[in-house]
Amino acid sequence: MVASGSRAKTRCEALKVPPFSDNADYLFRSYLSDGFMATRDQVGRWMVEAGMTTRTDDAGNLIGRYEARSPAPFTGRGDHEVVGGGTPPKALLIASHLDSVRDAGAFDGPLGVMLGIELVAALDEAGRRLPFAIEIYGFGDEEGSRFSAAMLTSRAVAGKLEASALNVTDRAGVSLAEVLQARGLQVTEYLNAMRDPSEFIGYFEAHIEQGPVLEAENLALGIVTAIAAQARFEAVVEGVAGHAGTSSMALRHDALAAAAEMVLDIEEIARFGADAGQDGLVATVGRMTVEPGAVNVVPGTVRFSIDVRAGVASARDACAERIIRKLHDHADKRGVKLTLERVHELPESPCDASMMDHLESAFTALKLPARRMVSGAGHDAMIFADLMPTAMLFIRCAGGISHNPLEGIEAEDAELALKAMLKFIDQLETTYEPAA
Ligand SMILES: [Zn+2]
Repeated sequence: MVASGSRAKTRCEALKVPPFSDNADYLFRSYLSDGFMATRDQVGRWMVEAGMTTRTDDAGNLIGRYEARSPAPFTGRGDHEVVGGGTPPKALLIASHLDSVRDAGAFDGPLGVMLGIELVAALDEAGRRLPFAIEIYGFGDEEGSRFSAAMLTSRAVAGKLEASALNVTDRAGVSLAEVLQARGLQVTEYLNAMRDPSEFIGYFEAHIEQGPVLEAENLALGIVTAIAAQARFEAVVEGVAGHAGTSSMALRHDALAAAAEMVLDIEEIARFGADAGQDGLVATVGRMTVEPGAVNVVPGTVRFSIDVRAGVASARDACAERIIRKLHDHADKRGVKLTLERVHELPESPCDASMMDHLESAFTALKLPARRMVSGAGHDAMIFADLMPTAMLFIRCAGGISHNPLEGIEAEDAELALKAMLKFIDQLETTYEPAA
């Protein structure tokens, strides 16, 4: 067998450098850039070698299709029109993204696409066809590293994008419409990338964990239960600015000293509070500004962000409530004014119970512990979770590091991931019931 997990790893690494990266010194592959187009061509060739037909859509996504056992003839056209009528067989959608952040690692995104290709290659080498087709999507924009929007392409495929969302420009001031046109695409056609969810039996995405849990527990793979619910707050602490030399310690209303206590409380509540350690609960203060910000002035105003995530919104909200109460207590005690505004909210995207069970059976067949875990990071999978049964497989990454050139995986882990995916396909095939 030529198909292998280690080939998926090697191919991701091969895509780190020009012409597949826009920069010679580090990996940066932004949506529809030269590096992206070269990558899309190369990955398309790998799809064809694996036994798929390929096409691209009006959003610039790459799509490979491995036909089902008794196919209606596939014309290779975007609308999947079938010669002589009839509907093409449903497909399992396997996807991840081909774009990257600036100064990226090799695996965030491409690994999911490469493992999908290896899966099809393994099936093709065995002369095996399934009662359903497999379609692999290499999404163009997940990271949002070019335009001021993320997941443009998966949202277009899912039919969740408003035409107004396409009115974006990149850092150089070039509009998405212009960028598309330069690639022979029309912004007015963009939403034609949409697919009818009824064409698919489910969505599967393999991705590096981007966290340290699997490594810490000495596990190669994990089963994602949900992509975390998120909430973000902007906190403003207002004290009284004053001269650092003349404001007596006892009479100060130092906004930064108050905020510092608040930050420690947030950590304490998420780490040791009633919901701590459960369901991927995390809370972070990632940004803070101090005003007036001078060495000889007692801080008058501090603004900081609070990001709270958990596998279910109720756990997130219970933690957020505790944080809010505690922060107000502190503000009262110190005589500073606290304003908290909830500025962003995203519900959890749960994975499908039976798809998770299929993955668990696959793990058990390979004698791997079926570690279930919440994804704290967003993925294309979250766009599809309410449209079709969705599953995600996590692969251990070195040090939990991602969005960094130090991102790394073990070839043996990629091998196990491919094996788990093949067993998962066995499970899907066994339980597959084509609609009448
Ligand atoms: Zn990713």
